[in-house]
Amino acid sequence: MRDIKKLLAFVLCVVFVLLSLCSCKAEKSASDEMFALDTIITFKIYDSDKDKAENTISLLKDTITRLESSLSATKKGSDVYNINHSSGEKVYVSEATATLIKTACEISESCGGAFDISVYPLVKLWGFDKKEYKVPTQSEISDVLADVNFRNITIEDNSVTVKKGMSIDLGAIAKGYISNCVYDVMKSEKIERGIVNLGGMVVTYNSDESQSDWEIGVEYPDTGELFGKLSGKYTFTVTSGAYQRYFEENGVRYHHIIDPKTGSPAQSDISSVTVLGDDGTYCDALSTALFVMGVEDSLKYLKTHSDESGNMHSFIILNSNKDKLYISSDLADGEFTLYDDFEDEISVSVIDTMFV
Ligand code: ADP
Ligand code: MG
Repeated sequence: MRDIKKLLAFVLCVVFVLLSLCSCKAEKSASDEMFALDTIITFKIYDSDKDKAENTISLLKDTITRLESSLSATKKGSDVYNINHSSGEKVYVSEATATLIKTACEISESCGGAFDISVYPLVKLWGFDKKEYKVPTQSEISDVLADVNFRNITIEDNSVTVKKGMSIDLGAIAKGYISNCVYDVMKSEKIERGIVNLGGMVVTYNSDESQSDWEIGVEYPDTGELFGKLSGKYTFTVTSGAYQRYFEENGVRYHHIIDPKTGSPAQSDISSVTVLGDDGTYCDALSTALFVMGVEDSLKYLKTHSDESGNMHSFIILNSNKDKLYISSDLADGEFTLYDDFEDEISVSVIDTMFV
């Protein structure tokens, strides 16, 4: 049984959260994939009108391509590029970019700076931007760290000013924002159902609430096995983890999520954190933030902060030993199932986040 899951995970190893669809009335009318956002994105659209399903996929691809280029830090002329080349001057950006940067800064404030889009110079220092990895010296890190502080980002209407020497990277939140737009396209095209996997971020759409649930597998870090499944009532499911992007030097693993306090990959006691909800932007940023915060501070945060609609956040956190799982109480009555093979390996704590 476990071998079959291993094989399945191997075949689909390009995605971090794996998914399958159970009992769906409409036949799958169109499916496709594309390479964007540094990952393989898969589309499955269900509708009795095949042309509409195919057309929706084209629209989704165009939307992703357009947004990727407008939010890219490296594409000349993009809002983020202009901010990063502004030498401290005010830059006018689109309303969407200004709102996204504002949301990013609010999330940074709420989690004490664990999430900070101004880590970009550190991302570059460690070589994660171009995949030309290197371990910097402590003095190089300290020099660059001096310019990392989201509080030095000012947003006024549609303008953004960053302190001279700073630069930003929306890598930990852009996929979430794009996922919101992906959902909006599926809704406005009035398809029956659809599921899009943006590599670590899954977006589901049902036109009718009575439609059966989607099933989303959750990956066991490093082995690629699935340790459990979610029967998704949530629109967005996103996972951050140290196993997703990293390099190794002298037997040490350096991953791509930076602790803005130290300037180095976060020494987290979390191996993977999944956040579920109805706002992709928020879920994406929060999954990165919780990873940096570690188990104890994450649980404190989740007990004291509601989501943007005033509800508790839904989450699954696996510790770094991969033997303790913390899940929010709303997932405990059937929404999340731990596979039998992992019952002896992983103990589950249900966390009641009754802050209201
Ligand atoms: P992924 O990009 O694999 O989906 P995340 O959503 O966790 O993973 O985002 C990680 C990316 O965000 C990094 O590649 C980097 O560009 C940027 N980043 C790294 N550390 C932080 C941080 N502490 N706060 C905000 N952005 C970060
Ligand atoms: Mg993220």
